[in-house]
Parts: sequence; structure tokens; C-alpha cells
Amino acid sequence: MTNLTDYDVCVIGGGINGVGIATDAAGRGLNVVLCEQGDLGNYTSSSSTKLIHGGLRYLEHYEFRLVREALREREVLLKRAPHIIWPLAFLLPHHKGLRPYWLIRLGLFLYDHLAKRKRLPASRGVKLQGSGLQEHYQRGFEYYDCWVDDARLVVLNAMLAREKGARILPRHKCIKAERFAEHWQVTLLDIINNQEISFSCRCLVNAAGPWVNHCITHLLEEKPPQSIRLVKGSHIVVKKFFPGDKAFILQNTDNRVVFAIPYEGEFALIGTTDEDHQGDIKNLQISQPEIDYLLATANNYFQQTLTQDAIVWSYAGVRPLHGDGSEKPEDITRDYQLEWQWGHQQAALLSIYGGKITTYRKLAELACELLRDVFPNMGQPWTKDALLPGAKPLGKYPWLPDTLYQRYQRTYGSLAEIFLAGKASVDELGEHHGHGLYQAEVDYLREHEWAMTEEDILWRRTKLGLCVTL
Ligand SMILES: Cc1cc2nc3c(=O)[nH]c(=O)nc-3n(C[C@H](O)[C@H](O)[C@H](O)COP(=O)(O)OP(=O)(O)OC[C@H]3O[C@@H](n4cnc5c(N)ncnc54)[C@H](O)[C@@H]3O)c2cc1C
Repeated sequence: MTNLTDYDVCVIGGGINGVGIATDAAGRGLNVVLCEQGDLGNYTSSSSTKLIHGGLRYLEHYEFRLVREALREREVLLKRAPHIIWPLAFLLPHHKGLRPYWLIRLGLFLYDHLAKRKRLPASRGVKLQGSGLQEHYQRGFEYYDCWVDDARLVVLNAMLAREKGARILPRHKCIKAERFAEHWQVTLLDIINNQEISFSCRCLVNAAGPWVNHCITHLLEEKPPQSIRLVKGSHIVVKKFFPGDKAFILQNTDNRVVFAIPYEGEFALIGTTDEDHQGDIKNLQISQPEIDYLLATANNYFQQTLTQDAIVWSYAGVRPLHGDGSEKPEDITRDYQLEWQWGHQQAALLSIYGGKITTYRKLAELACELLRDVFPNMGQPWTKDALLPGAKPLGKYPWLPDTLYQRYQRTYGSLAEIFLAGKASVDELGEHHGHGLYQAEVDYLREHEWAMTEEDILWRRTKLGLCVTL
């Protein structure tokens, strides 16, 4: 490929969509740089419900394309990252006053059959005694989706992109992008060193999530091709208040659903809400009405009553959805749309609207097919069968306490061998910072996974922050 610019592609945004595109493009032979203003995945992509799911609810909106693609991706992603993605059973209690039994059965039939399933079992009717639900919930359904560690999915993709030659720059904010006839001149601010760096690239990929239109108007001084609707969603984390390891999908009278999911062993995650959002995107917090809504939903279903004191952590994010004219926030499509401007001979811009974590790989493939317009000789799709770093099982370390071994396996998979190799006892892992966090892990995260702050380590690379706040 003739290369008259410093980079073929510059990706703005280190959320799941940005890192997914950077990985795919780098693996197809393009020279890629990615900039992220904060830590990798520190906004929407670490604030999700953490499900790789088809989205049972989207069937009611006739989103068959999206659901089919998402259902297929469950099996693909399970294979690519079995250390951070695993099957999760959901119990759906039947509520006499809400959707009829036959309608749910039909929805689940479609869910089972819209895409091929190899690893995930089909849905079935179940009795709910002993599940922790109130006694009048006697019948319901069980179906499967998958759990994902969303923040780690972002980091593992960034590591794979780096393996393929991409330059990954967290804590680098794009502050200017000037369009010339055949290239962009991009300026980044290195936030840590307060220094500007500048380079040229042929294509700019705007994967700035909730900032997608802000980037177009403020950095590029262009008019956005799409409107965007920001929809806030919040979650609460409480001590686990139901037995077993199955999750629950709870229907509400407003036609929405709320999930209650076993989380990090001893906790449960309850979410989410859907609220139109205006104003600050960076410092989002759950509001009192959202807390009341989530607690009330749980209390309508479970035997154990939750009060506000039970909340050990909460988080909020905004879904960057493309405005499709829907009135209610929960009705807006979760599908993605890619806007391609000035392709062929000109400096091209690709902007990403909407999307789900579940479909990030397909979104990246589509983005790369659009980039082919500019780079006709680029490689073919390759990510479907490519394992993410650490996907192989962690070797045997009999000297490691079982809980630590399990956490390393579910957090790092075989990547943990980087900091375990050559050690023969826990003492050799270095200083113990509490709750099973040893210096060897901290050093590994700093050297290999771009972790810089306590928050990066306690809330995104791991979830040890939950133990510390106890
Ligand atoms: C409450 C909630 C629950 C969800 N649950 C699920 C779920 O269970 N399953 C699922 O599949 N999906 C879920 N989603 C959707 C999913 O989280 C999002 O679609 C996805 O994370 C969006 O990723 P992104 O990369 O587009 O955006 P982001 O993750 O927000 O990434 C964009 C990045 O761009 C960076 N950026 C912006 N401007 C600049 C700049 N000038 N310079 C450098 N960097 C910049 C930002 O810092 C940010 O990190 C959920 C979303 C929400 C809000």
C-alpha cells in the first residue's frame, strides 16, 4: 500500500467500537493509531449491563436483523474469549397481569431459532419454587444469554490491536482534526504530560460514542450527518439476595424489563433504567428516581426486601443512540449506523452511531469494508476465529489459593502466566495490597494493560474496588 501519510487510519475513541475497529483494521494490514481521552473503556463500554445477548425485548420492536446478528455473535464471542465471557441462565417469571404466556413462549421460540446455537441450551418452561422469588411467581421460563466483563473486553481488543501493529494511546485527547484534500492533520493532547502531538492520516474514524457529534462540530468543524439521542442507564450493586447462580429478567408495568444478575461472587447487579439525558456526560451518577425504580422492581418480585442501605455501588452510562424519532427512550433502536463521508480520493471520515457491545465485532467488520473504498488492497475479514489475548486456559499453579486462581482465570486467563511464571509461592507475588491484590498483578497491569491509576486497576481491569468499599 502506498502510504503518503503517517497513518492510514486514526480512530478517535477507545470504547469497544473504537478498539474493535482498530483491531480489525490493523489485522488487515492498515497502519492504525487509536486515541482515547481517558482510560480505555472508561465511559459507556464499562457501564453496561455486561450481557452478550440477543436482546429478547427487541423482538417486540421487530428488530429481527439486530437480534439475529447478536444471537450469532454470542457463540462467536464465547469462543474468542471464554475467560471473560460465559453462558448465563436467565429466569423469566410469568406475571399474570403482563405479557401473556403464549407471547413469551413465541418470543423465546424465535430467540432459540433465529440463529444457530451450538453451546447455549434452548429455552424451557420451569417451576420457580426455591428461586428466591415471591411465592405467587410459580411458573416461568429459563433461557440463556452470556455474561461479559465489558471493561476487559475493551482492553483485550486493544492488546490484540497492538499485537497487530496498531499504536494505542490512552489518555490522549483529540483536540483538532483538519481536513485537507487527501489527508487529515490530527492534533492530540497527551493528558499526562500536557503535550501536543500531531500527525497526518488518510481516514478518520469517529468512534467517540456519546461525543460522536461533539467531535464533528467542535474538532472537525463540520455538520453532523445524524442526530444522536443520549439515553442514560443506571445500575445498583447489592449483596446477593437470592440463591443460586441464575439471573432474572423482570417485566415491569411500564413495558420495560430489569435484570437482576449474580455479580462477582457475593453481589447482585440490578439494572437498568432508560432516561433521556442532557448535560454533562463525564460525571454521570444514578439519580434518586432511578434508585427508587430499581429497588421497587426488585421488591415487586423477590422475597427479600431491599432498601437503599443495601446498595454497595452504583454506576451510570449513556447510550449513544442514533435518533430514530421514537418517543420513549426504551423504544429507540439499539442497532448501529455508520456514516461514511468523503471516501475515494478525499480525506475520508467514518462516524459510528449506536451499537451494542454484543455486536461490536460485526460493526468493526462493516467499518473495515467501508474503509476498503480507500484501501482496496486491504486484507479480508479475520476476527471471527481469532482468540482474544488470554483465551487459552491458565496453566496449573498448585501453590495458588483456589479463590485467587479462579479470579486470575476469570480475569486474565492465560495472560496471568506473564506475572505468575517462575514463581513458586504467594510470597513471591510481592507486596499484598489487600483483597488478593499483589504487586505482581499491579506491575503486570501497568506494563501490559495501560493501567495508570488506582481506579483503572480497582474498577476496570479488576472489580476489586467492590471489596475495598465493603
Ligand atoms: C446502561 C447501559 C447498559 C448497556 N448494556 C449493554 C449490554 O448488556 N450489552 C450490550 O451489548 N450493550 C450494552 N450497552 C450498550 C453498549 O455499552 C454501548 O453500545 C457501547 O459501550 C458503546 O461503545 P462506544 O465505543 O461506541 O462508546 P464509548 O464506550 O463511550 O467509547 C467512546 C470513547 O470515545 C472517547 N472520546 C470521546 N471524545 C474523544 C476525543 N476527543 N479524543 C479521544 N477520545 C475521545 C471517550 O472517552 C470514550 O471512551 C449498554 C449501554 C448502557 C449505557
